[in-house]
Amino acid sequence: MNIHSLLIYLYKTSKERSMIENKNWNKEEAASIAVAESSREESWLSKSYMQSIFMGDFDITMAYPFPFQKEDDKKIGDEICAKIDQWCQENLNGEEIDRTETIPAHVWKGLAEMGLFAIKIPKEYDGLGLSQTNYMRILSVVARYCGSTAATLSAHQSIGAPQPLKLMGTPEQKKKYLPKFREGWISAFGLTELNVGSDPANLQTEAVLNDDGTWTLNGEKLWCTNGVVADVIVVMAKTGTKKAGSREVSEISAFIVETNQPGFEILHRCRFMGIKAIENGLLRFTNMKLPADSIIGGRGKGLKLALATLNDGRLSIPAIAASSAEEMATFSARWAKSRAQWGKKIGVHENGSDKLARISSGAYAMRALSDYCAALSDIGKQDMRMEAAAAKMFNTELLWEVCDTTLQLRGGRGYETAASLEERNEFAFPMERGMRDARINRIVEGTTDIMHLFLTREALDGHMSKAKPLFSRSTTQEKLAAVGKCALFYPFWTLKQFVPSFLRSFSGFDPKLKKYLRAADRRSKKLALAFFIRMALNGPGLADKQLTLNRIVDIGTEIAVMGLVAARAQTEIDGNDRSNLKTAIYWLHSATVRIDKMLKELNKNSDKEAVQLATQLMDEAELLPEVTTENIQPHIQREFGSELCNGKQTERLRADQSTSIKTGNSEAAAK
Ligand SMILES: Cc1cc2nc3c(=O)[nH]c(=O)nc-3n(C[C@H](O)[C@H](O)[C@H](O)COP(=O)(O)OP(=O)(O)OC[C@H]3O[C@@H](n4cnc5c(N)ncnc54)[C@H](O)[C@@H]3O)c2cc1C
Repeated sequence: MNIHSLLIYLYKTSKERSMIENKNWNKEEAASIAVAESSREESWLSKSYMQSIFMGDFDITMAYPFPFQKEDDKKIGDEICAKIDQWCQENLNGEEIDRTETIPAHVWKGLAEMGLFAIKIPKEYDGLGLSQTNYMRILSVVARYCGSTAATLSAHQSIGAPQPLKLMGTPEQKKKYLPKFREGWISAFGLTELNVGSDPANLQTEAVLNDDGTWTLNGEKLWCTNGVVADVIVVMAKTGTKKAGSREVSEISAFIVETNQPGFEILHRCRFMGIKAIENGLLRFTNMKLPADSIIGGRGKGLKLALATLNDGRLSIPAIAASSAEEMATFSARWAKSRAQWGKKIGVHENGSDKLARISSGAYAMRALSDYCAALSDIGKQDMRMEAAAAKMFNTELLWEVCDTTLQLRGGRGYETAASLEERNEFAFPMERGMRDARINRIVEGTTDIMHLFLTREALDGHMSKAKPLFSRSTTQEKLAAVGKCALFYPFWTLKQFVPSFLRSFSGFDPKLKKYLRAADRRSKKLALAFFIRMALNGPGLADKQLTLNRIVDIGTEIAVMGLVAARAQTEIDGNDRSNLKTAIYWLHSATVRIDKMLKELNKNSDKEAVQLATQLMDEAELLPEVTTENIQPHIQREFGSELCNGKQTERLRADQSTSIKTGNSEAAAK
């Protein structure tokens, strides 16, 4: 099928079906998509490095020279990170915090004294005014000691109140709240509800406008991290309905809610397999009166605000992931060298070598992606929505693999707790706790599935911007105009995808890296064609082929990371440092193998069989009972982060805590 037949086919099918308004979707599904569509940022700040890859344009100039942290900013980061590292060594006992499931009062106070609840808040509001890069570095330092404490800081600053206020707060809101975080006020973000997880369209929490301009808030929020001790919570609530295309959908607004007001209750403190000390709760708001000026970013802008916040907010998790992987890489090499079985060091057995290579190159790749995003955020000139989402997805998935590989390399000691290892005088590398703590990252701030959907939508936009009327409900005239536009664009675009990659010079790159850049370029073109052909052939049905789309997104992400790894390695070489070249080469080589496998799987897979089997399994399964929170009575002793942070409250009030909370530390247990 040539490009013109494809366009004719597209036009014909688009008359009956549309991708944004798919007739296969039920009412709820269509409403969810409409809400997501209406909250996405339509315009792009600039050309996107990642989106270009899905269009067959592998533009290494957007990554090379690699944007390492600027010297002056690095100096600031080095100093503060050294100070925090020292403090963590003396005060942050990750094992103890995990065991007691509680962050002690002295830790809250210490964090607040160092300004760690106001890291990115501008100095004019008493914050530390640090860059995104230094924020990510600080969280990474803390995470090396205690996942719960890092998650607490991250929930407050990545999704909690400071960032939305900074981005979209009114001058009055900024003046009122931002300085409070320097005093140790703690914030949280409440979107999730019992029936609202990945899909906010069905939000039940509701704020009703009163005659005097105030609001009355009712509803419940589940799994609100920091919610149990928060002084303020950013609460997403329905404020009415609005039109999204032809549909009536929920209008969602973001409210800043002070938790010392009547009507706020903590129903339950949730317990988890990892990051056990986070103050995460099920919260209830009953007829809670909110002042007229408590909306952040304007009425109905809640989800847009959440997405804008997450552009930067999503970056702390990938940074923590990269740092954890680096720790595992360093430790694994030590272990592989120290442990011998069957007459050889375990790292010398080929199985061990493979594990070491995967762990350390994975850490290098994660670092490249995370640092690239940090730089994009600090420079602020390049659209980074896809890179941030890819970093969240890629680094958390890879972290899990790295954890599993490290644990396996460590053998039985990987499964043993650090406390037990220490008690019998072994080096207490906390692999067991690390693995438990790492698991949540694939779920919060957008599950991996949702990141795939998000990235698919943004990747599609390269085509959508030209052919949108063909994929949505539009008039015949609009569709014909789109066909005309496409007829001009696509023949040349298609031809470009066949330009051989060996013609690209990639000047400035070491020949060993050049080879892989050409490989990435070739695969980017293959990907773009495969994506376009599937779009054209499946039309709106492609939206339901999630496994195909996952592969497309994963291939694009791998190619993007290849570019960043090569750019990072080359920039290091330019500074006379060749120490990471082997690591980069291994990563680049293994990435091409993974990409080729996924490209093959686009054509040969078991997706259809999976769907058939799942349908049968669900037909046969019994439904779970309905969930209700009606009979849950609040029983949590109320504590405020601000009081813990300013030293007014010096002991935790854990009624359910039988163990005392020690402040002691030991190097191995803390690490
Ligand atoms: C420790 C912890 C801390 C949290 N902190 C916060 C917080 O501070 N604030 C807050 O608001 N929330 C918080 N959450 C909630 C978290 O963001 C949600 O768990 C997450 O968004 C997923 O929602 P869910 O668990 O309801 O899963 P669901 O949305 O029910 O999804 C279940 C599964 O289905 C998949 N799925 C869902 N939709 C689709 C789709 N369209 N296509 C394909 N697959 C799909 C998901 O990926 C997942 O695998 C926290 C959760 C935990 C466990």
